[in-house]
Parts: sequence; C-alpha cells; structure tokens
Amino acid sequence: MQPVVPNRLPLTDEELRRYARHLLLSEVGREGQERLKAAKVLLVGAGGLGSPVALYLTAAGVGTIGMVDFDVVDFSNLQRQLLHFTSDVGKPKLQSAGEKLAAINPGVRFVPHPVRLGASNALEILGGYDVVVDGTDNFPTRYLVNDACALLRRPNVYGSIYRFEGMASVFAPHLGGPCYRCWYPEPPPPGAVPGCAEAGVLGVLCGVIGSIQATEAIKLILGQGKPLLDRLLRFNALAMSFREHRIPHDPNCPLCGRNPTITELKEIIMSCSPDDISVEQLKTMRERKEDFVLVDVRDPDEFAINEITGSVKLPLTELPQRFGELPKDKLVVLHCKAGGRSARALKFLREQGYTRLKNLAGGMDAWEKRFGH
Ligand SMILES: [Zn+2]
Repeated sequence: MQPVVPNRLPLTDEELRRYARHLLLSEVGREGQERLKAAKVLLVGAGGLGSPVALYLTAAGVGTIGMVDFDVVDFSNLQRQLLHFTSDVGKPKLQSAGEKLAAINPGVRFVPHPVRLGASNALEILGGYDVVVDGTDNFPTRYLVNDACALLRRPNVYGSIYRFEGMASVFAPHLGGPCYRCWYPEPPPPGAVPGCAEAGVLGVLCGVIGSIQATEAIKLILGQGKPLLDRLLRFNALAMSFREHRIPHDPNCPLCGRNPTITELKEIIMSCSPDDISVEQLKTMRERKEDFVLVDVRDPDEFAINEITGSVKLPLTELPQRFGELPKDKLVVLHCKAGGRSARALKFLREQGYTRLKNLAGGMDAWEKRFGH
C-alpha cells in the first residue's frame, strides 16, 4: 500500500543517532524515518489509549502530534493513563501531556487542542492531520471522528476498551476498507449503554490496545505491512487471546455506501443516563402526540429568548414551591438550556415521589442545533 504521508523531511545528525534502531529496518530506513518526521497525527483523547499512543509515536519521531482533550487529570486516571503523574492531578491533561512528550523527544512538535470536539470544529481540526487515532470513550465522539475522517478521507485508527477486552481496527473507506458505520450504522439508543463513567477497565489493557493503534498509525505513514483495514482485532486479557473478525464494507452504509445520506457532520447527542431522552426521541413523541408534560426549568429571562412550544414554564428555583402543579401519573419530560439544571430538577422530583421522569439530553441547545427552532 501507498504511504499516507507522501512528503519527507531531512534528518539531523542527532536524529540519525536517536532513530538508529529504526534506520536498521529496511521497512523504515532513512526514507521511512523522514516520512515519520513529516507526518502529522492527531490523537483524540489524552486518556487511557491516547497515553501509550502519544508516548510511542513521540518516541518514534512522528514530527507533529496533535491532541484533543479538554479534561483535567483526576486521581482515578492514574491507574491507566500513563502520560499523567500523581503530581499532575488537577492539571489540564494537555499540559501534562505536552510536558511529558517534550521530555521524551523535544524534536516533536506537540499541538494541543483544548476543546470539546463537535460538528462545528471537527473538520477543521482533523483536516490538519494525515492520520487520526481515536482514543475516545464515548459514542458521540466516536461517530463524529468516524464521520469526519470519512468525509476528509483520513484514516481513522480505532481502539476501544471495556473491562478486560479491547478492540482495534482501521477505518478508511478511501483506502478500500469500511467505516465504523458499516459496522454499526447508528449509535445505540439512550439507556442501552452503561453510564459513561461507570465501566471498569483493566489499566494495562490500554497499553495493549494503544500500542496496536500506534503500530497501525506508523504502518500507514510508512506504507508498510498489512493494515487492520476491514479487520477487527479483539483482545481478551483474561483468556489472553486475540481474535480477528472481518468487517466488510457495507454498500448501503449511510456514510460511505453507494448512496450516502450523511454528507455533512451532525452533532450526535447521546445520553449516558437511562433517565435521558434525545431531542430526536422528544420530537417523535410530540409527533405521535404521546401523553406527557414537557417542563422548561430555565429562568424567566431565558424563556423570552427561545422555547420549545407547548412546554410548561417552571424555573428550577421555583420548583420546591410549585412542583405540586406537575402530575404524578403522567410522564414528565424536563429540559433546560444544556441538560444540567433539568437533571437536578429530575433528581429533586424523584425525591418528592415522582416516578415517571425523563431529562432532555443536551437541552434547548441540542434542540435548536438539531431542529433550528
Ligand atoms: Zn461505512
């Protein structure tokens, strides 16, 4: 296969020494190392998978490494996210990452993107790179990265981890493989996946899967070997087994099929809580004229800016006095601007004995983004 990075950058004497063990490999050699130096790789996520990928790609001499992450280092990250040390707790992950990577290889340019990846910025950010490595832990970002990569014709080196099992693949329709949507056309319905933060994971699993992702990124840059295109590699740490599954390209894929229905990036808002419903679900419930009460818990001055027609206006601050106005025998759907206050309202109402409650994930912002009014 062709190297995905066509250009090369000359090596300095110091680099010739640093990469001596690469230069001894005919599959890398001086030419390959120069390609690595010219390569730009974006890592989405500076966590469990992003850590080993960043460490190895930096050591390997990938010239530019971008990282997208807006999180700060938490104590519970240290069990698996090797980029971050105990002294980094509370620091932005990208700051912590930048410091470590510069110490490993000062010749590598580190580009931090301290933003939440969304439909509005993904094409611009991903478009500046040759290869994208997906180290995200949530479905909305995974679909966003997949869609953006397919639209931009960038290979997407996928990895995921759950408990004792990890998976890796390369999604690249433009190189003859499938995309993630060929495998799973749509994100799972809300409530069908465990809450975002509650799944356990064996820390060292990140090292296994992240190293596979780093290997695949390097192979793609060099144009060497056989990439994990249309193959899914499954690793089980307990059984210590690797299995390979074929993921065929789906000619009816909504993204990379013959008649694609997805031709631009859309925000995918998915909940982690079984209490949540998506804006799409709410719209369907309204169209079917289902029997429920929609409650807007924003402040009165926000009601004036926009509203979902037909919602009962009951600001969160007034809820303790006025919750009696809401029926207990009907489904109550709560919403606010982004979903935070309505989640608090839901918790409060549950404590008052309400059992039929839902929270609109993403709130008014998501509704407007999706339906424009
Ligand atoms: Zn596809």
